[in-house]
Amino acid sequence: MHETGKSQERKRILTGDRPTGRLHLGHYVGSLKARVRLQQEYDTTLIVADLHMLTTRPNREAIEEISENARGLVLDYLAAGIDPAVTSIYLQSAVRETSELNLILEMLVSVNRLNRIPSIKEMARAANISDEELPFGLLGYPVLQAADILLPRAHLVPVGKDNESHVEVTRELARRFNQLYGEVFPIPDALVGEVPTLLGTDGQGKMSKSLGNAIYLSDDEKTVNKKVRGMYTDPKRVHADIPGTVEGNPVFQYHDAFNPDKTQIEEFKSRYREGKIGDVEIKDALALAINRFLAPMRERYCRYQEDPGFVDQAIIDGTERMRAAAADTMRTVRSAMGIAGALNRIARTAEKRRKRLEKVEQAG
Ligand code: ATP
Ligand code: MG
Repeated sequence: MHETGKSQERKRILTGDRPTGRLHLGHYVGSLKARVRLQQEYDTTLIVADLHMLTTRPNREAIEEISENARGLVLDYLAAGIDPAVTSIYLQSAVRETSELNLILEMLVSVNRLNRIPSIKEMARAANISDEELPFGLLGYPVLQAADILLPRAHLVPVGKDNESHVEVTRELARRFNQLYGEVFPIPDALVGEVPTLLGTDGQGKMSKSLGNAIYLSDDEKTVNKKVRGMYTDPKRVHADIPGTVEGNPVFQYHDAFNPDKTQIEEFKSRYREGKIGDVEIKDALALAINRFLAPMRERYCRYQEDPGFVDQAIIDGTERMRAAAADTMRTVRSAMGIAGALNRIARTAEKRRKRLEKVEQAG
């Protein structure tokens, strides 16, 4: 289990989200579920990635929403079962070392490499940014993410499938840094959730807050019922007696992900394939399953909503812890690179020169 040498140290996790809205079921199965499960085993740090938000939304309105969105995000974490006593939650922009490490890592990756990552173009498209207007910072999205991951020297990064290619860039950057300057960073592994990509309720690709096809962890029972009733299914099935397709059908993907009654799911699937069941029966069972799944979260929402100071304090404390860890890593990074004492060396030489001149003047 353990590495040889000094390592009685626990392994570390770093992952997180942009403060651009609330978390949905896709975020949960893609990453949040693993964070909750592993937080006792790993030293876990969750990032509220507001600098990453600036890559597509540098506008003042978005910036003004950061603190409210950060609170909402942290509330979602806590409701999902994140325990701030063992997990640090921090605000990215408040840890300045992020920008310093980002700049250093930018020197170790080619523009060509970044250009080949499809998710960047997809993010640009989703934000209505044309190829000609692609910001330098958006191209550098995975590099900034590498800085986030390497700053606490994380070993594991729980992410959804769409983010796996970014963790690959982090691995390359860590290897390159270590090769040039010595072993500073562990090579982190991506951990993709059991459901790599949860489809949207519209069946048109992944669940995403920007596409209006999401069921949020904070949705109430009525909202869930309504969203599930309106879900996309097999469009060929204009009548309940027409055989349907289960594969790629979001209703069944959600059943697999959230309904613990596997016998019921198998029965639904075979009756669906035979055209012997109506959509409403399957959807109502799904809504029930999702509401049961969300019930303990709803209880925790109520508890934390009564105590907003708790959420704020979690962010403040987590950010302090991360600041200390980041300062420590950056001391190691600067020293490994040999740029730590450059100004000191210049100052020492200047001092010697001054003394020599003084002597010459005294002698003359
Ligand atoms: P969204 O993609 O919903 O607009 P976002 O872009 O602000 O949200 P991301 O950074 O894409 O947030 O997602 C945060 C984490 O959740 C990432 O690890 C991502 O892979 C995962 N994730 C997001 N949507 C899904 C999904 N539909 N299925 C599985 N994982 C997902
Ligand atoms: Mg996204």
